[in-house]
Amino acid sequence: MTYLATIFKKIKLDTHENVGWGKIHLPQEDMHTSAYWLALDPACCAEFEIEAVQEGLWGLAHLLCGIAPLFLMCDERDLRGVAQVKSPFTGRPTVFVCESIPGGVGLAAHLFAIREQFLSSAREALAACSCSYGCPACVGPDYEGRVASKEVARSLLESVLGASSRASRL
Ligand SMILES: [Zn+2]
Repeated sequence: MTYLATIFKKIKLDTHENVGWGKIHLPQEDMHTSAYWLALDPACCAEFEIEAVQEGLWGLAHLLCGIAPLFLMCDERDLRGVAQVKSPFTGRPTVFVCESIPGGVGLAAHLFAIREQFLSSAREALAACSCSYGCPACVGPDYEGRVASKEVARSLLESVLGASSRASRL
């Protein structure tokens, strides 16, 4: 997994509310680990603006990383969500649930094994959350109210339910 941070967001500590952003220049960060990922059909994103797709993918990553520890009996810090509108790895809009432990310890493989139950639970959790546009308990906070990331995340999740998902070693 390769990380290259290009922008930063300023968030409030208590609410995670977005209060600004800026560009940064940092060296690329590489870590060899395992990940469970959802590669979406680009067609299911076509109805949304690119910013909305990005917010929706991040929302989905937040949701999946929030629920996965319930199935894996792990700490939420054991996982790290990554969202890419066009992943260099899959060539598609992709959400990764990466293991934070170098090499991985089987968490991603277990998520793949239980993917149907895992994704169904994610859908149920999203539907059950009483917020309107996103909150820390589901897809993350509603960033400045600009984009309905919860609605986009819901739409993207619906499109992947029934589509294929894969787990592998990166
Ligand atoms: Zn919510």
